[in-house]
Parts: sequence; structure tokens; C-alpha cells
Amino acid sequence: FLQNYYDAHPKSLAMYEKAKEILPLGVTSNIRANKPFPFFVEKAGGSKVWDIDGNEYIDCQCSFGPTMIGHNHPVLSKAVIEQIGKGVDYAIPYENERVVAELLRERYPFMDMVRFSCSGTEGTMHALRVARAYTAKDKIIKLEGGFHGAHDSVLWSIHPDVAQAGPADAPTSVCMSAGVPSCLADTVITVPFNDIEALERAIAANKGQIAAFILEPIMANSTVILPKENYLDKVRAITTRENIVLIFDEVICGARVSYHGAAGKVGVTPDLVVVSKAIGGGYPISAFGGKREIMQHIEVDTEHCGTFGGNPLSICAAKTVLGKILTKEATESLIKKADKTFEEMKGMLKKAGVTSRLKHIGAMGSINFGITEVNNYRDMAKQDSDMWFKFYISMLNRGVIMQGGDATETIFFSLQHTDEDFEKILTAFKATVETL
Ligand code: PMP
Repeated sequence: FLQNYYDAHPKSLAMYEKAKEILPLGVTSNIRANKPFPFFVEKAGGSKVWDIDGNEYIDCQCSFGPTMIGHNHPVLSKAVIEQIGKGVDYAIPYENERVVAELLRERYPFMDMVRFSCSGTEGTMHALRVARAYTAKDKIIKLEGGFHGAHDSVLWSIHPDVAQAGPADAPTSVCMSAGVPSCLADTVITVPFNDIEALERAIAANKGQIAAFILEPIMANSTVILPKENYLDKVRAITTRENIVLIFDEVICGARVSYHGAAGKVGVTPDLVVVSKAIGGGYPISAFGGKREIMQHIEVDTEHCGTFGGNPLSICAAKTVLGKILTKEATESLIKKADKTFEEMKGMLKKAGVTSRLKHIGAMGSINFGITEVNNYRDMAKQDSDMWFKFYISMLNRGVIMQGGDATETIFFSLQHTDEDFEKILTAFKATVETL
């Protein structure tokens, strides 16, 4: 399967070698340096991506989530082109910022106040800052296996080496990057997902010092992991009791799992939520918001700024995506197709006798090979990554980008995946799993 990949991508390999001379790893985001080497894109449109070697792919990576409406959606492109004619950057207030904030509040009624930035990283960074300001406390709790972007406060225990990360029910916070100040280690407490006792112990050991608990309510960065029944209700009760700001990072799961986001889907209201990716349809935007009394710190003593925050192109994109394209009906219709496709895949895995776990919710899902149950990061880490790699490359060889090029990533479907695309994906999937 690897030789087929090499044979189909000679130009990409050459371009990769050239890129490496000037771009570290040959890429602009470390996660894109896929093994054995990444293919290079010529263009994308609708549900498809074409590479410089002339290969066509059905795209289920969806740029790690943002292109949930597909590539170059005609309604979005028209709106953005019109906006270009009115200017691409003002850094002066204008009406659409408020309009998009109101569109978000329709989906997340607890969003009393909202601010915009350009990336998920900025969103979680600012949400954590405002939570620290509100509580006048420094420490935060995050999940083992939880990813919240590339800033120093959260580059901890994302995918740590389990052997180095201490006991499963009381993991140590493992720094995932050189260059992060080691003095931050004391400020990041790591807990396993779906374990209330571990959370209680972590809070007791840091009594009165925790500003925030940040988590994806539906994990999508250690493959898809769902919260156990009542886990999030208990998290809500405990964080309220302890004056800990509960932050839902819905950068990925937000628009993907329901019109009212993950908070709506699970029926638990956080204090703050961070949304991004799908709401911009591919344009760079994030928003964080929630309780007025927390957000109001920005009016008093807490910094939130950014030259490109709320830029007219991203805001125009979000207004169009939220207001016109990713409607309730469109979201529900996509989720129905995703459910059907994932269930058919499940059946194929079973029929082929492949030990695996396929979990899906909304328009996203993931497959773990070699294991059957995953409730937290450590369960996921036991998966057979070699088999996943064979699966991933074999799907590429059959014209489907199944997900980002790592076994921890997630499969995404878009509004522009046609019935024919879903059929082609399933045909490629069946042929692939039969070879595993
Ligand atoms: N939070 C979550 C849950 C994410 O998945 C990501 C990115 N994959 C981020 C935050 C960071 O977003 P960005 O890459 O836009 O900075």
C-alpha cells in the first residue's frame, strides 16, 4: 500500500523535499507533516480535493473541521466576494460583528456576551484568561488527551507517553513542547475524561486555587470519545460548587453535533464556550462567550485584542454560514446521512472481522483498530496505530481522505458530500477493511 502511495505522488514528494529547505518539516502546522510524506493540494471544490499529481479525493478531513459546508460553497463565496469590494480589514467597529454575535446567541442562549478572534487557539487562550480574571485564581484543569490549541497554558498532556504520565486516575501534566515555561507546570492539573472521582480529588488537592475546567464536552482530538451518562451534569455541579469556570471547547464539536452545539446536545450549560472552525466555513474565526459577569471583565481589567479579530471577511463568512447555509435543517439532514454512513461502516468492519471501535455523533466519527471500548485518552492510546496507518493510506489510494493523517484524528462529513460521494466512500471503505 505504501508503494502505491509513492507511485501516485511523485510531484508531491519533490515539492515536499523543496519545501523542507525553508519551512520546518515542509509545512506550516506540525500536524500536516504526514507520513510517509504529505501530498500537495492543487485546488479544492465542493466535496473534493485535487493534488498536484492529478489525484482526486473525496475530502473527509474537511480541513480538520472548518469546511463543514464543503469547499467554495457558492453562497459563501458570493457573499465574501461582495465583502471584498467593501474592504477586507477595518479594525473599526461595524454592524456585522453584533449580528454574528446574535446569531451565535440564538444557538447558545447562555452566550450573554461574545468576542471574536481568528483561531481556536486564541479563543481558548482568551476564555482561560477571562476565567482567571473572574475567579482571581491561576490554576486550570484540563483533560488528559485534550487539545485546546498551541498556547502555553494548554500544551500539556495532549497525547503524552502513558508510561511517563503517572497513574491513570491521577495523571501528571506532561509538557508537550519545548519552549513552554516550566513554571507553568504547577498551574495545569490533568484529569482523565469520564472520571468524577479523579476530578474531585484534583480539586481537593488544589482547594480554592482552580480558575477553570476546560474540556471538549465531546472529545474529538483523541478520536471521538463521548461523555458517560451524567458525567457532564456532575462536572457542572462540582464546578459551580467550587466557583470554577466551566469552559466548553466546542472548536470542533460545536456546529458538528447539533444546531445548538455540544452544550445543546448534552443538555449542560457551561459558563463559557469557545466556538470556531465550522462557523467560518473555512475562513479564520473563533468566538468565545458566555456569562455576562465573566465576560464583563473585558470591560474592566482583562485584555482581549487582536488586529484581525472580527475582520470583515471572517465575520461575513460566519454571518453567511450561520445565517444562510448551516441552518437547522441542513445540519440535521447532514447528521442523518452521517449516521447512516457510519452505521454501514460499522457493519462492514464487523463483517470483515476487524476488531475495532467506531464511534460517531453528529457529522463526525472515528475508528480505533484493535480495541473495542474507549472512555478516555488511555483507552484510546491502546489502539493499533499501524493498522490505522494502513487503513488511512489505503483509503487515500482509493481516492478518499478519511481524516487528518494521525490515528487520533476524526472523520468529518460536509454538506457538499453527495449521495454518490457517500456511496464511493463506502465502496472504498469495504475494499479497504477487507485487506486489513
Ligand atoms: N480546540 C480544539 C478542540 C481544537 O480541536 C483545536 C484545533 N484542532 C483548537 C482548539 C485550536 O484551534 P486552532 O488550530 O484554530 O488554533
